[in-house]
Amino acid sequence: MRKIDHIGIAVSNLENALKFYRDILGLEVKDIEEVPEQKIKAAIIPVGESKIELLEATSPDSPVAKYIDSRGEGIHHIALQVSGLEDILKGLAASGVRLIDKEPRIGAGGNKIAFLHPKSTNGVLLELCEPEQAGE
Ligand code: ZN
Repeated sequence: MRKIDHIGIAVSNLENALKFYRDILGLEVKDIEEVPEQKIKAAIIPVGESKIELLEATSPDSPVAKYIDSRGEGIHHIALQVSGLEDILKGLAASGVRLIDKEPRIGAGGNKIAFLHPKSTNGVLLELCEPEQAGE
C-alpha cells in the first residue's frame, strides 16, 4: 500500500460539481474521461499526491446512479494505490475478505483496479488500484 490514490465522489452533475471544485476551489482538472464498463464519466483532479475523482453516472443503472439514488451525493469510494494487485487480491481472498472483483479490471486512466466489498471494510467501498506503469 503506497498512498491514497484518489477519493471518488459521486455527483449528480459533473459540470455543476466543477463549478465548485474547479472554479471556486481553483483546482485543476487533469482529465475528464468516460469509463463505459462502469457507466461513469470521471473528472480527475490532482490534489498533491492524491486525486479527487468526481463521478457522474452516464446511465441510470450505473453503480454511481444507484449510490446517489439511495444515499445522495457524497464520498463513493476511497482508492489505495498498491503494487502487485493480483497477488494482493489472492491474499485477501485467502484471508476471507469479500471481493467485488476477484480479478483486476481496467478503470479510469488505464489503471488496474479492484473493489473490496464494504461488508469486509467497515462500510467503506475500498478500491485498490495499480497504475499502468508502477512507480511515481
Ligand atoms: Zn476510483
